[in-house]
Amino acid sequence: MTPIRHLTILGSTGSIGESTLDVVARHPDRFQAVALTADKNVEKMFEQCKRFYPSYAVMLNAQSAEQLEAKLRVAGLGTMVLSGIESLEKVASLPEIDTVMAAIVGAAGIRPTLSAAQAGKHILLANKETLVMAGRIFMDTIRQYHATLLPIDSEHNAIFQSLPQHYNGDLISSGVRRILLTASGGPFHKADLQTLSTVTPEQACAHPNWVMGRKISVDSATMMNKGLEVIEAHWLFNVEPEKIQVVVHPQSVIHSMVEYIDGSVLAQLGNPDMRTPIAHALGYPERIESGVQSMDIFKIAQLNFEAPDFERFPCLRLAYEALSKGGNMPAVLNAANEVAVEVFLAGKIPFTVIPAIIEHVMESIDRQEITDLEDVLAADLRARETARKWLDTQAWQRGQ
Ligand code: NAD
Ligand code: MG
Repeated sequence: MTPIRHLTILGSTGSIGESTLDVVARHPDRFQAVALTADKNVEKMFEQCKRFYPSYAVMLNAQSAEQLEAKLRVAGLGTMVLSGIESLEKVASLPEIDTVMAAIVGAAGIRPTLSAAQAGKHILLANKETLVMAGRIFMDTIRQYHATLLPIDSEHNAIFQSLPQHYNGDLISSGVRRILLTASGGPFHKADLQTLSTVTPEQACAHPNWVMGRKISVDSATMMNKGLEVIEAHWLFNVEPEKIQVVVHPQSVIHSMVEYIDGSVLAQLGNPDMRTPIAHALGYPERIESGVQSMDIFKIAQLNFEAPDFERFPCLRLAYEALSKGGNMPAVLNAANEVAVEVFLAGKIPFTVIPAIIEHVMESIDRQEITDLEDVLAADLRARETARKWLDTQAWQRGQ
């Protein structure tokens, strides 16, 4: 019998967190959710505690933790409620857990995810921002503490599945020529360029194929998501950006491909449902049921491919630029993007200003080497401050 896996789910109330619990619920004999964490969604966390009986529930927000505590006591549940970033780090490294689903959104995920790596856990990584901000530090930490890492991002999970089974981190000796990283192109892939300045947050979040959190949905609309994924693939698979070809594939059926030197191209296909990569990583190396429906290949009928349009999607160009500059630049890119997306979602800036903010911040901050987490957090903070300062000086912002 397969030994039971004891899980911490960081970001359990989010889109990936809920999909993870959906798969977990299908296999009570295999998985136990020991700790769940969220920012401030008390209602959803309460529902999850009633259903999964975790030992710990962490709310980042202290007031939310108090509210959750009160509800749990009334319901007679013994879940221990904690709050704050230290508690997120604590539950990511508990001795009684072996596996951590890292599904917090954004830079906020970095400290608990690193804590899981330092504790030598088996990490299922959805929080791509950790790799973008601190790729080298994170990968070194994984090796140093004998942690293990499986990608949840659908493209990276597809690449992992298409690489040789015991891929050693070296494309050449593995006979791999290049990676084909697919992208849907998002909701504005065909939109008239003139209309982009007036799109609303709701339109930007209405992804044609995937249902996701709001931040990654906007990233998909700007294609920054693909840029972050190029950086993610670079660190995960030790592959240079020249060997990563972004391919716009509007159906999101092929989740990515690996081309070998003999001309073979291996791909992983499936319905666009994150429960597939989640179940793959949770069950690995075994295959387990995910609840995802069988793919109707006749209904799909066609698969299309196009080269990416860097003029329409300047964020993609900026991400390549940050990766090639290296050092603090990917962390700067990521932080500037987080600020830009936040103010766009708050209705304060036009969609087309997102890349303008990021470009301004990248031009304003000098390239510096990164040696430790403090350097990464300093770069993140500086980029956020620079972005906010610039926003304050802009006319359309003053007019609000
Ligand atoms: P989401 O917004 O739906 O959920 C985010 C989760 O993180 C929530 O549980 C929230 O409470 C928690 N959270 C938010 N801010 C926090 C903070 N400051 N501190 C602690 N916790 C915080 O996001 P999502 O779409 O599930 O994405 C999660 C991660 O997975 C992101 O890094 C995203 O890029 C990645 N990812 C998501 C998808 C997808 O289909 N949703 C696909 C690939 C990768
Ligand atoms: Mg993805």
